Amino acid sequence: MSGIEGIDVLVSEVGPRDGLQSIKSIMPTEAKKAWIAAEAAAGVREIEVCSFVPAKLLPQMADAAEVVRYACTIPGLTVLALVPNFKGAENAIAAGAHKIALPLSASETHSRANLRKSHAEVLDDVRKIAELVRSLPADRRPGFEGNVSTAFGCTLEGPVAEDKVVELAAALMAAGCDEVGLSDTTGYANPAQLKRLIRLVRQEIGHDRLSGVHLHNTRGLGLANALAALEEGVTTLDSSLGGLGGCPYAPGASGNIVTEDLVFMLDAMGLKTGIDLDRLLAVREILKAALPAEEMYGFTPDAGLPKGYGAGGWGVGRAAA
Ligand code: ZN
Repeated sequence: MSGIEGIDVLVSEVGPRDGLQSIKSIMPTEAKKAWIAAEAAAGVREIEVCSFVPAKLLPQMADAAEVVRYACTIPGLTVLALVPNFKGAENAIAAGAHKIALPLSASETHSRANLRKSHAEVLDDVRKIAELVRSLPADRRPGFEGNVSTAFGCTLEGPVAEDKVVELAAALMAAGCDEVGLSDTTGYANPAQLKRLIRLVRQEIGHDRLSGVHLHNTRGLGLANALAALEEGVTTLDSSLGGLGGCPYAPGASGNIVTEDLVFMLDAMGLKTGIDLDRLLAVREILKAALPAEEMYGFTPDAGLPKGYGAGGWGVGRAAA
């Protein structure tokens, strides 16, 4: 159970952050707002709306504060922002983000390339951010999640030692995070590896401190990995609408797992997501109009829903519901 009333699995949309930061086009702020509002109206309860990085590094995220402030006006929506460092966390908190997430790359080479920081330096930032969060009045304190990224392998270093991932997850908790997520940043994960690593990390930090995974579909294993995570009792799955993002090294592969396909799988299995599939599919039109040059992915949007779907009696889960 996801901890949210009426929902078994929390689908956390990350397209406005992970998708948009991975493509060349810059989405106009108004289109971002329309996208976020439409997904929330379709029943999506959590959206990672941006990353607080300097605009000169990532012009796609120059409007981060405005997007957070807008998203926070949508009732019932948890607004998540990625923060690469202390300054980013300050800005995200000032804008009113409900949750902040900081990535710590299991591969130190990737960490230096991505954040220009060693593990020790990132953990220093985590401690400072945790202190800042604790200094706020209780009703203004955002949730603080640490993410071990490149947890399943790295494009620069290759294999990543599982012991290292466990050690870093524990270090993030010790530095003051509320919970830890595992990210398959590079699309290297397989279901057996994912299950093993979820168990190892939970043994170290506690079962309820790891509730979510962030998966990519670079090699087509995204949904298989999502199912493996579900079988381990993971209740939050990241995905992006239209699989926005892609991968420059894998033509035809989406970026994150495709929200539409993920929701179809969960829904067809009888798991409650709170999301209306027809309304979710319609949100693609906003992306198509705002990003005409970008590829969109997903099998369910192309194939359509199965005949009679949603009319009752379709699938074991639905019949029982
Ligand atoms: Zn990602």
